[in-house]
Amino acid sequence: MAAMTAPDSFARLVAEQAASEHPWGARARQWGLLTVFAQLWESLLLAPSGEVFVDRGLPDAALSAATGDERETAHAQAARRHPELRHLMPRRPPGARTCPQCDGSGEIALPGGRRFFCGPPCNTKGWV
Ligand SMILES: [Zn+2]
Repeated sequence: MAAMTAPDSFARLVAEQAASEHPWGARARQWGLLTVFAQLWESLLLAPSGEVFVDRGLPDAALSAATGDERETAHAQAARRHPELRHLMPRRPPGARTCPQCDGSGEIALPGGRRFFCGPPCNTKGWV
């Protein structure tokens, strides 16, 4: 599969990914993958090919294949976080409507300032 991102620019993103973003950030760097979405119990890692893996922090360092929803979330988050990866944003079909849960932002705000990411079927794209 052809690289979806210029190799130099992807390598730079991998090197620069904040170690503080997730305790497992160093694992992703070691594998040459980019952390694009992290939760307490797992992180979504992007390969230069656009392929997505899930790191659940297993001690044997095994990565899982991403589900369709995880893959879509990873691509939307990669596009939102890095201008170099904007092309990964899933294309909005003509019939799609703005997500009523997040109003297109990909995040849902709770009273008190807490925010969380919009889940399926939006997957943080902002449309359904
Ligand atoms: Zn949404």
